[in-house]
Amino acid sequence: MNTDVQVDVAVIGAGPGGYVAAIRAAQLGLRTAVIEKEFVGGTCLNVGCIPSKALLDASYLFSQIKRAAVFGIQVDGASVDFAAMQRHKAKVVRALTTGVRGLLKRHGVEQLTGTARFNAAGVLDVESADGAGVVRADNIIVATGSVEAELPGVPFDDNVVVSSRGALELERLPGRLVVVGAGYIGLELGSVYSRLGTEVVVLEMMDRVLPEMDAEIAATALELLRKQGLDIRLGARMSAVQAEGDAARVHYSVEDDEATVEADRVLISIGRRPATSGLGLDAIGVETDDRGFIMVDHGMRTGVPGVYAIGDVIATPMLAHVAMDEGVVAAECIAGRAAAMEYDSIPAVVFTHPELASVGLNEDEAELRGYSLKVGRFPFRGNGRARARDDMEGWVKVIADADTDAILGVHCVGPEAGHLIHEAVVAMGYGGYAEDLASTVHAHPTLSEAFKEAALAVDGRPLHV
Ligand code: FAD
Repeated sequence: MNTDVQVDVAVIGAGPGGYVAAIRAAQLGLRTAVIEKEFVGGTCLNVGCIPSKALLDASYLFSQIKRAAVFGIQVDGASVDFAAMQRHKAKVVRALTTGVRGLLKRHGVEQLTGTARFNAAGVLDVESADGAGVVRADNIIVATGSVEAELPGVPFDDNVVVSSRGALELERLPGRLVVVGAGYIGLELGSVYSRLGTEVVVLEMMDRVLPEMDAEIAATALELLRKQGLDIRLGARMSAVQAEGDAARVHYSVEDDEATVEADRVLISIGRRPATSGLGLDAIGVETDDRGFIMVDHGMRTGVPGVYAIGDVIATPMLAHVAMDEGVVAAECIAGRAAAMEYDSIPAVVFTHPELASVGLNEDEAELRGYSLKVGRFPFRGNGRARARDDMEGWVKVIADADTDAILGVHCVGPEAGHLIHEAVVAMGYGGYAEDLASTVHAHPTLSEAFKEAALAVDGRPLHV
């Protein structure tokens, strides 16, 4: 790398938060550099959102091909070439990460390879295989993301005990996979392998799956995933993994009963923690909270002038789209614009089948905040297009304030929920009412009509139940 670089803005980390922040800063006329130690595109493009969706889409297609007879299509002898599926995934990742490099170049962002560390508030030391250098910047955005959390006593061994990263890169389909943790990553990757023929057991310590989702919606997902063959065991606390050559025996307990389950691979997906180690934050006085997340205000400013933080490294939803928007806000604040992040209508999606999607408050949260609620529900069974696709499992729930009719939250489990949720996101973003959704004309026959019906149901007048 260049030994001494001087810019207006230096961004540490080229994940979705960092690369978007860099592009926006450059658009605003700021001389910008981004420093990346491992892979442009970060976790999301290389070992997260994108590769997992490539495998989810491929495995879903296989599951559909196997049931094509429902639609009068005979397919004999369909089988999986897992190596080819992995090559497809790698090709998608390559195309997108090359695209991000191109975008940075087109916007005139200087791309530096190396590991950055604060020397002082406006000065970074950068180390790379080619040597060391210094980057001086009036403003520095920390966008270093997160890393997989390990279970004490059960380290990843990149063979039998794997993180999500390892689980995305398996060379062969495991016969038996144990997933520890029924959050979205565990259930998405569990779904991939289950669809491809692996026996999947999911051990979840809590009495429910997807703790961040609305409880009723998550309960429907649990039922449907179990029906698909995922063996999800709740209240199951894993205690040890005993490696036995190329396999393992996983010990766990349910209340006072001890049990074991055998596995060829064990995926530990119990969450992620902010990547701050080695950054030298203490030395310059950047504060972190008790879980290690960097503390920022709504303009992404830390307490140290000229130092900003965005994405998974701060205590906001660990999602790529959140990181990207935080990156835009940080860049705009640096350029002197009045920008602030707003977190009330952030969508969250789980890409199992059916998908789960949500925005805003769930019922428990809304009640805790003292709202009296009106709730409208509508099942996809009553939707013509869902029936045409033979994809009728799931439903939509619209939660509104009983006093004002304002939409407080929308939750959905069903086909294409991840796409559909955005009409609710936009409605909430504009401070919409349930009546706004209910009185909007929706094209027929589309899955989106289920959202209109759920909004009508808020007022007790759905048309198709
Ligand atoms: P990251 O993407 O983690 O990028 C941080 C970058 O900083 C990395 O490239 C890292 O190498 C670099 N870096 C770290 N330290 C330094 C340093 N000192 N010097 C230089 N570079 C450094 N989110 C969604 O919204 N939708 C999904 O469907 C989804 N699926 C996921 C599936 C999986 C399996 C996983 C693991 C995550 C998924 N996520 C998803 C979460 C998403 O990947 C993250 O929220 C997102 O990547 C966060 O972006 P970021 O820019 O903050 O950090």
